[in-house]
Amino acid sequence: MNHALKIITVVFTMLLVVFFIIVSFHKETEITNAGPIPKVFDAKTTILPSPQAKQLERKNLVESVVSNKTIYLTFDDGPSYLTMEILDILKQEKVAATFFIVGTNVDKYKEVVKRAYVDGHTIAMHTNTHKYNEIYSSLDNYFNDLKIVKNKIYNLTGVSPRIVRFPGGSSNMVSKKYSKGIMTNIVNKINSKSYYYFDWNIDSGDASGKLNKDAIYNNVVTHLNYDTNIVLMHDAGTKLSTVQALPQIIKYGKEHGYTFARITKDTRPIHHKINN
Ligand SMILES: [Zn+2]
Repeated sequence: MNHALKIITVVFTMLLVVFFIIVSFHKETEITNAGPIPKVFDAKTTILPSPQAKQLERKNLVESVVSNKTIYLTFDDGPSYLTMEILDILKQEKVAATFFIVGTNVDKYKEVVKRAYVDGHTIAMHTNTHKYNEIYSSLDNYFNDLKIVKNKIYNLTGVSPRIVRFPGGSSNMVSKKYSKGIMTNIVNKINSKSYYYFDWNIDSGDASGKLNKDAIYNNVVTHLNYDTNIVLMHDAGTKLSTVQALPQIIKYGKEHGYTFARITKDTRPIHHKINN
């Protein structure tokens, strides 16, 4: 009897030990599955708003005319060495446009950003790094990145930018690879931070880098028919055909009764369907 009791006690103790091992292992796997929140931004990469930033005077302000037939020319991924050429064309044609700039390009082209502002264009944000795996890996990463480009623009122009375009647009299919539902989450939060995002309804097709100026021109002018025409173009250093197509696009617009305007928070938003 005594012997049987000993066996039961030993077996019971062993079961108890096994139970605790299983419980603690399970907890551990739960923590592992949750994964650490990726932090790609730290104090070193934080750019603070400069207390000395003075608002630049918009000496050469180009009129931005909104009508019932308006073209909003938008340039993503700059500034680059080509942006100056684009600014020259816009100045000559007295046409206002919108530049969705990438923060990591700003340091090399500070004067270009300043000139674009002084000339009366909208300086808008296209993130600091444009690296999908970083910006779209979490909500915090996206907004921390945006703050960097925002402060860079503020430090140069004295004005806080409010207009945003997401790399790949709000309809991009790539971001979900890094964080499922991230575009829905960003879009839900963006207005509460007083930012306004814009996609496009006319794609010049210049992103591929394979089109010549005539193909870019045709892509734009054959699709003009909305009252709000937001045209996607790029002013990255490889997009020479875009610069070459620009005078013809402006000419066509003017000859067909369109006005040109820059995007502001009051512009009718063009938003894609979100796919995440
Ligand atoms: Zn882009």
